[in-house]
Amino acid sequence: MTSVLERINVGRATFSVEFMPPRDDADEQILWRSIRELEGLDPAFVSVTYGAGGSRRDRTIRTTGRVARETTLVPMAHLTAVDHSVAELRNVIGWYAAVGVHNVLALRGDPPGNPMGEWVKHPQGLSYAEDLVRLVRELGDFCVGVAAFPYGHPRCPDVEMDADRLVQKFRAGADFAVGQLCYSAEDFLRLRDRVAAKGGNAPILPGVMPLTTPKMLSKTVELSGAPVPPHIAGRLEPLTDDPKAFRAEGIDVVTEMCQELLAEGVDVLHFYTFNRAKATKEVLGRLGLMPSRTA
Ligand code: FAD
Repeated sequence: MTSVLERINVGRATFSVEFMPPRDDADEQILWRSIRELEGLDPAFVSVTYGAGGSRRDRTIRTTGRVARETTLVPMAHLTAVDHSVAELRNVIGWYAAVGVHNVLALRGDPPGNPMGEWVKHPQGLSYAEDLVRLVRELGDFCVGVAAFPYGHPRCPDVEMDADRLVQKFRAGADFAVGQLCYSAEDFLRLRDRVAAKGGNAPILPGVMPLTTPKMLSKTVELSGAPVPPHIAGRLEPLTDDPKAFRAEGIDVVTEMCQELLAEGVDVLHFYTFNRAKATKEVLGRLGLMPSRTA
């Protein structure tokens, strides 16, 4: 049983990848093609997100279990407290262990349908990710990750308080954190500094998404809760009507940010792949993070 912590503390630059559970059989085929393509590049781990509804949730268990069983990869399953009682959460965690998944990203999650709607905890459930970290830890020998927010969580009044809350999650037993999307190395490094200044020394992985289309650029804004940094908007927005040029510039922008992060001692880059391997592979190739036989 290999933990994410073992896989990221290797003293050299490496990367991890994130997938979403497939919606249907066609989606599953695309996902598995990407998993197989990336397997040869030896990512530190692969994570699979946790959906809002029952069938998507089952697919997270199935997909991570299959990664554990049928590949050489180290899987990490996301888990949220949304609409779950503690008994149900125990059950899902038990399933993860049963299918060979011992790395869990413990999240509170957002209210279904409207991420900025009022958070109402399940009457027998949990309020915060911190509580879920404790629960997962209590239930076995899991390596536990949590979410981090370079611009602060959208519901948190300021970035200092947000950093305090990340440190609380580490103190509750989280081993590492994965960052929300960000397109400025400096903004990510500021988060790392704030957290370190408060005594949070666990690794924080920056979240990176190759920017290949204007749609992805707007998705970034939605996910990160922050506007596109002006220096990036200035490079990409003039190219919105030229898909080829946009893609090339988008890959450049992301590669440059990753280069800055690596130069500042960040060892692990976490790629949001949206279940496609091509753009991630391109960025990894440019960064020299492909094993030499495949580069
Ligand atoms: P928490 O850390 O609990 O924070 C939630 C809010 O509560 C924040 O505003 C925080 O400041 C506040 N808070 C925390 N502790 C306290 C306290 N003690 N007292 C008062 N306020 C407090 N969502 C999914 O549905 N599925 C996924 O698979 C998924 N994967 C993600 C992966 C990453 C890397 C990231 C960054 C996010 C992911 N999300 C996912 C989204 C995430 O669930 C939401 O951003 C959610 O709103 C916050 O989750 P959290 O775990 O950070 O919650």
